[in-house]
Amino acid sequence: MTVPGEEKASDDGESTDGSDSNRSDDQRSAPSDAFAALSDPLRIDILRALSAHHRTTDEADIGFADLRRRVGVRDSGRFRYHLNELRGQFVEKTDDGYRLTHAGIQVVAAIIAGTYTESISMGPNELDSQCPFCEQAAIATYEDGICFVTCDDNHALFQWSVPPNASADTTLPEVVDLAQMLAFQAIDQTLLGVCPQCYDTIETTVMADEGSRPVFRAVCDTCGAQVVGPVAFCLLVDPDVAAFCRKHGLTVRDDHIWEFPFVADDAGFTIIDEDPVRIECTVSLDNETLTVTVDGRGHVDRIHPPDKK
Ligand SMILES: [Zn+2]
Ligand SMILES: [Zn+2]
Repeated sequence: MTVPGEEKASDDGESTDGSDSNRSDDQRSAPSDAFAALSDPLRIDILRALSAHHRTTDEADIGFADLRRRVGVRDSGRFRYHLNELRGQFVEKTDDGYRLTHAGIQVVAAIIAGTYTESISMGPNELDSQCPFCEQAAIATYEDGICFVTCDDNHALFQWSVPPNASADTTLPEVVDLAQMLAFQAIDQTLLGVCPQCYDTIETTVMADEGSRPVFRAVCDTCGAQVVGPVAFCLLVDPDVAAFCRKHGLTVRDDHIWEFPFVADDAGFTIIDEDPVRIECTVSLDNETLTVTVDGRGHVDRIHPPDKK
């Protein structure tokens, strides 16, 4: 993810294939075996048929013959072979037939989301918004599952991934809004210590060096997902800061991330301690100021009530 004035940073859209680094060979074998089981298009058809059966009949289980008919395969032996290849990881056999496992349900959802397949592009188009640095129009582009916003002077304003399925039949401004909502959710979840991609535990840190902008950073050891950006991220998802912003007419639902003055402005952040890190952040809107302290994990831990200037 990229936000105003920040160098490139990203959430790792590639990591959902589970094959990222930072894991031992033992751990690595499980996901690669799982994806080998999905190598034949017929197996994907079987998963989709099981999902469709569940959706349309409200019953999870379906008998062998009915399932084979749904998928449309005449050769019973060939069908049985591929169905068996899915058993264990994605499909389980029950007394009443076959059903998707939890992993099977997730794979079907991921296929429908288009994470692994489709490619849709939109833009570049101007948004009804200005770059806070040069006051030119903000320009959005959606490409290869990534929504990014910049300007003619190449100020990087925002970047986040949006699954292709979510961007079908929508406009580019709607994709930008969705990308922001997904980004806020991911930041919130990351601050709770849960990886937004694989749901394993993730550690968050704030890196602060005198003379440079404090940076919030989380990298998942399990899947490689990254959330990196200015400490202002941590403020955006804090309920008290959000309430203060709302009072001054700014909400994360209706306004763009780069339109929050404290996101674009470095001046409001002061390092008050380096070990452990503590940062004092000043959020000023319409002559009212909120002072917030953020700790070394990016948690907002003290808020001074707004002072009238
Ligand atoms: Zn600009
Ligand atoms: Zn992860």
